[in-house]
Amino acid sequence: MPAPFVIAPSILSSDFLHLEDEIRACQAAGADWIHVDVMDGRFVPNLTMGPFIVAHCRRATDLPLDVHLMVEKPESLLESFAKAGASHLTVHVETCPHLHRTLQEIRSLGCQAGVTLNPGTPAASIFPVLPFVDLVLVMSVDPGFSGGTYIPETVAKVAEIRTRLDDLGSSAWLEVDGGITTDTLPQMRAAGATAFVSATAVFKYPGGIAAGIAALREA
Ligand code: ZN
Repeated sequence: MPAPFVIAPSILSSDFLHLEDEIRACQAAGADWIHVDVMDGRFVPNLTMGPFIVAHCRRATDLPLDVHLMVEKPESLLESFAKAGASHLTVHVETCPHLHRTLQEIRSLGCQAGVTLNPGTPAASIFPVLPFVDLVLVMSVDPGFSGGTYIPETVAKVAEIRTRLDDLGSSAWLEVDGGITTDTLPQMRAAGATAFVSATAVFKYPGGIAAGIAALREA
């Protein structure tokens, strides 16, 4: 059986004046999840969207909404995002002093629990919680803006986490986020990633959204 392969367009690069059309175009083109990058202007130097936008996404699609919380104190927002229709809630290890409790709370809200880490944070920082997550997200850029600089060293981190998940017998998703294009996707897949977030390579693809998603699958 081939390894699972999920494409999750990040609406960060979409045209917000036409968000519904953009999401529907992703779904029609075979996107598996819709990735929502939530930034608070504190943990990362940009402000994006909150539960209000997630609720609108929920009305536009029945695809899983993969919500990535780049915020300080995410525990205070979990319930609002769950109520808005988030399917997965992913928190940063850098922002969660009580990570087991936060992940447990996400599951108790009926969402899949994800953990993520910045490029400069060692893989071992999330090892203690791997038995308790449904998804691991590896950042391959420093988060904050769409189109950040891809850090190739993160491929080795994906491989390291892949080994650990396999040792645990975990079926958690291993997702990568940042600079994923037709050039970088194959390396990440070879390292063991199973889900691929892409913003620019979908929404800004010269041939349009459907062509962008097709090119990533082809890669
Ligand atoms: Zn993200």
